[in-house]
Amino acid sequence: MSGRKRPSARTASPSSSSSSYGSSSSSYEAKKRKRQISLSTFKNWKSKYDEELQTLTWLDCDRDKGEVDALWCSACRAYKGAIYGMKNYSEAWIAGSQNQRVSNVVDHGNSEQHKVAMCRYRQAQAKSSSQPVTSYAPIAKSLLNLGDTDKARLRRKFDICYMMAKEGMAFEKFAAIYELEQRHDVELGT
Ligand SMILES: [Zn+2]
Repeated sequence: MSGRKRPSARTASPSSSSSSYGSSSSSYEAKKRKRQISLSTFKNWKSKYDEELQTLTWLDCDRDKGEVDALWCSACRAYKGAIYGMKNYSEAWIAGSQNQRVSNVVDHGNSEQHKVAMCRYRQAQAKSSSQPVTSYAPIAKSLLNLGDTDKARLRRKFDICYMMAKEGMAFEKFAAIYELEQRHDVELGT
């Protein structure tokens, strides 16, 4: 078999052979290039994926009459400064994504940059509405679930640590102080 170098008509420039396919082909190409969803589909996505991805909070779009022109994320736009340059950072959902597929929405909702932007967004929301730190900070949140006895124990341990830090004491001394406190019937837990 010697190399067959027969030029194929199929690989010829598409513009030169478009006439034989007629106008249906070019309109198909146009649709393929830009698949637009209707505004009602967009609203449907926004509510349908809210539980899983909080889409009501961030999913937005540029409108073109009754259709969606581009999808974008209000959280990533607002906190671009915090996410810029992250691993796999993408400008698509900030500038406006032309990829109008559910999978694109889901992928963005699960992306690292988006999660960071949403975290910033929630912190700002909580601060602006003067919600307590326990409404968004995980460690503070877990403290809420402590019973009164555990809270008291934690406070005593914290007092010891605070005193030690203030006095510049080595942390190895903690065990000795802890034992002494227990001998004095101070309930510290384990
Ligand atoms: Zn986002």
